[in-house]
Amino acid sequence: MDKIVVPGEKIGAIEEYIGLNGTYEDSDGNVRSKYFGILSLNREKHEALVIRIRKPVLIEVGDEVVGRIFNISGVFGYVRLEVKNGKPLDRSFIGILYPPRAVREIKNVYNVGDYILAKVVSLKNRAIHLSIAGKKYGVIRAFCRVCGSILIKKINGILKCHKCGNIERRKISIHYDKEWGKIYGY
Ligand SMILES: [Zn+2]
Repeated sequence: MDKIVVPGEKIGAIEEYIGLNGTYEDSDGNVRSKYFGILSLNREKHEALVIRIRKPVLIEVGDEVVGRIFNISGVFGYVRLEVKNGKPLDRSFIGILYPPRAVREIKNVYNVGDYILAKVVSLKNRAIHLSIAGKKYGVIRAFCRVCGSILIKKINGILKCHKCGNIERRKISIHYDKEWGKIYGY
């Protein structure tokens, strides 16, 4: 049967087992586990190996995340998260985005297709609640509603399409298009 082992846990003496991947020998002649993982023993060949269990990536309050809005319902944005604290996520999470203040026209705050930098403010009811309040947070890349090209930042949240000249507004982050790809791993 597979057994879960922790780092440093004794698997056996070196006379009993040859330590393969995920193991090490200590100075007392014991084979020990290098990782938190599943111990696999081959008793015929006297081999031991540990398959590492990676700690699942969890989203926590206070995390900074980058994601793309794939839907808007009322004033709430639904965001597919791609990056957490500067590192790409290996599984997908959906966050709910709230406008930073009461708004009449959500299209001047964010839009479907926008990338946003947001902060996780709550995990109530097992949902990931995101905020873009504050200068740091907001839209970091947006696309023209008319032609789909990238919008270029002008001033005071005004964005202009470099292709068709369409003018739009968003609640933008100070990181808007400022090499955010490099910062956040794109
Ligand atoms: Zn355009």
